[in-house]
Amino acid sequence: MSQCEPVSSQARSWNTTICRTDMSIPTALLGIAILSCLMSAAVLGSLFQAKIPGVRQWCVASGMLAATAILLLLRRSDVAVVCGSALLVLAALLALQGFRQFFHQQPSLIWEYGALGAILTGLVHWTYISPDVNARAALISGFLAYIRFGIGWLVQRYRPAGRPKYSYYFVSVAAVLGAIVHAVRCAEYALGLVHETTFLEATPINVAFLGMATLTLPCLSVGMVMLAHDRIAERMERLATIDDLTGMLGRRAFIARAEALFDLTRAAKSKLSIAILDIDHFKDINDGYGHAAGDRALAHVASVISRETRPTDVIGRIGGEEFALLLPLTGKEEAARLTDRLRAVVAASVSRAPAADLVCTVSAGVDEFDASDTLASVMARADAALYAAKAGGRNCVMLAGASHNQRVEPSETTP
Ligand code: GH3
Ligand code: MG
Ligand code: MG
Repeated sequence: MSQCEPVSSQARSWNTTICRTDMSIPTALLGIAILSCLMSAAVLGSLFQAKIPGVRQWCVASGMLAATAILLLLRRSDVAVVCGSALLVLAALLALQGFRQFFHQQPSLIWEYGALGAILTGLVHWTYISPDVNARAALISGFLAYIRFGIGWLVQRYRPAGRPKYSYYFVSVAAVLGAIVHAVRCAEYALGLVHETTFLEATPINVAFLGMATLTLPCLSVGMVMLAHDRIAERMERLATIDDLTGMLGRRAFIARAEALFDLTRAAKSKLSIAILDIDHFKDINDGYGHAAGDRALAHVASVISRETRPTDVIGRIGGEEFALLLPLTGKEEAARLTDRLRAVVAASVSRAPAADLVCTVSAGVDEFDASDTLASVMARADAALYAAKAGGRNCVMLAGASHNQRVEPSETTP
């Protein structure tokens, strides 16, 4: 049954009243826009505590858009139209700046403020001095098209590698769809294809425009929330995988990477070696110079190891002052030679502490994966070789052997 179908004389009079309610479609769409912008502002506001760059701007921009729609809903006077339009362009610029901050880019471009000034001047001119609804519409829509294209481009340009792509594409598509709507509207008014005498007349083009804007705006807001959540998820994943002090993989993440690499190596029947390195007499550094100096020395050794290894090698901090290094496509002799080079570079480097310059040395055990190995079994052999290196005087590398561990002699090219 249609809502306007009368069922009794009383109902008929009620329905007649409802059906005759003088609510134009633009008014209804403005009402929907207010609700969706207020909801977006509330949801984005709930993310303030996460301190994600850009979210504050997005939230304020949503609030300003709601204020714009409220203003236009309540009054269509010249003052309301000028103030509403000014709020609209300011909110759009703020949203773009929010996206730039989100991606750690310079938030504002000087010429955009110049354009803003020109637009506000144009608004006043085409409202009070030489009234022209079409010129105003072309001006505002042109700027909004620029903002939306800017957002779509920015999100794709700075989309972080290795993150799920969905939310970034979602935002880009919502932004570009909005941009197309505004660009078409701008072209229509600028080329004189449509003429209006009052602001937001209930013409088919305005209804279509407002309908698309009402649809793409909440999509963009939902997209902002999705991006903010992705940033939070990225932080959590980082916390769970990366060791704070050294910037290396933590033990759990290293083991997971090692298992995956082990499976790949077995499937490809290729080589994979592992080295376990441990800083010598590290307790003495803590005891002699304090925990802070110990932390600095630990970070220093980690940075030397990270810098001196190949991009394909996988490094992790698997214990207090213990590191593991996976060397793909590398046999055990080659791995032992590379590890001994690392040992020599660490021994030749200095960690600067306020009390003294500290020199650390490391000992290491090396072995190669065998097809019949598990990760635990090969790590146990490398660990046993490491203990042999400690027993053998430290600051040296031992290669695990079937019957005994073999000390790696420094080569002539070792620094
Ligand atoms: P060895 O040559 O036999 O390896 O001797 P060591 O002193 O290095 O080994 P030991 O296991 O006796 O001591 C390791 C020390 O490393 C003890 C622990 O307090 C310290 N350590 C572990 N993690 C950290 C850390 O994150 N920061 C600091 N400053 N010290 C740490
Ligand atoms: Mg140690
Ligand atoms: Mg240790």
